[in-house]
Amino acid sequence: MESEIKLIVKWNSKEYEVDCLSENDSIGTLKEAIFRKTGVRPERQKLLNLKFKGKMPENDCLLSALTLKPGFKIMMMGSLEAAIADANTVPDDLPEVIDDFDIKDGEDVAIENKEVYLSKIDKRIREYEIKVLNPTRQDKKLLVLDIDYTLFDHLSVAECGYELMRPYLHEFLTSAYMDYDIAIWSATNMKWIEEKMKLLGVSTHNDYKIVFYLDSLAMITVHTPEYGVIKVKPLGVIWGKFPQYTPENTIMFDDTSRNFLMNPQNGLKIRAFRQAHLNRSSDRELLKLAKYLRAIAQLESFVNLNHRHWERYLKARRKEKKHKHRDPEPPSSSDNPPT
Ligand SMILES: [Mg+2]
Repeated sequence: MESEIKLIVKWNSKEYEVDCLSENDSIGTLKEAIFRKTGVRPERQKLLNLKFKGKMPENDCLLSALTLKPGFKIMMMGSLEAAIADANTVPDDLPEVIDDFDIKDGEDVAIENKEVYLSKIDKRIREYEIKVLNPTRQDKKLLVLDIDYTLFDHLSVAECGYELMRPYLHEFLTSAYMDYDIAIWSATNMKWIEEKMKLLGVSTHNDYKIVFYLDSLAMITVHTPEYGVIKVKPLGVIWGKFPQYTPENTIMFDDTSRNFLMNPQNGLKIRAFRQAHLNRSSDRELLKLAKYLRAIAQLESFVNLNHRHWERYLKARRKEKKHKHRDPEPPSSSDNPPT
């Protein structure tokens, strides 16, 4: 007798149960079933962790060939037709931020020091296991990066993940790697992070290495009077595990500022990268931020920086350089050719 296969599809942060399938059904049938549950058309579905002989299985491949455990979670990327139509038209009034709020001055500081949150961080330091990929290097600062909308537009549709990658990602990481150990922290699960980093070619790049990954389990929930209970990424977890990284030498990029509520001074709110198809040719955020990272890497400590004004900082430096160029100092004796 054929046994029924029950699978879970994870898409857009939600889980869908797909049942009424048997071992003799094909990937094509599975995709149809997923379509009925999610509305994502079969040709738009990218089933990230389904592998047959190391490759994504073809539509005629049978489920029996994949030896899936009951309840196996398939991670899917893909957009609805409506969302695709949306992504290809320029909206009249694009809101600057979606699903975000700016932290008011003062509020963050109060939360930063609350005893109860510090004890949650302690618990993560003791119990959470950071996924270490490469050794830390001496005398490097630390850059912690969010994934979704920071490095990658995870809601638009594309033939391959590469099209959703933020422009200049590899150039940015290569440049940052000179002065910083690079970590990834995403509010999703570890499997997703690994798949996404593979998809973008980040985990296998020759010119830089990622030091470690953190996922949603390293986050903590905090209560804010205004916004209720929210999840944040406390850098204290990293600082507790790796004492060489401190508030003085760590910087974190995220498109959602609430993620650095516990360490606002170390956070830089990056402009969100959305609608990859429209913005791919003009987005230069990572190029500019690579310059900022290089510039501040020479500082002993980051504690006097206000990353909200990173563009102003770069501008001031440019001005300063120009000025120097115009009024050169008289040459010192060491500049004279040897006699
Ligand atoms: Mg994000």
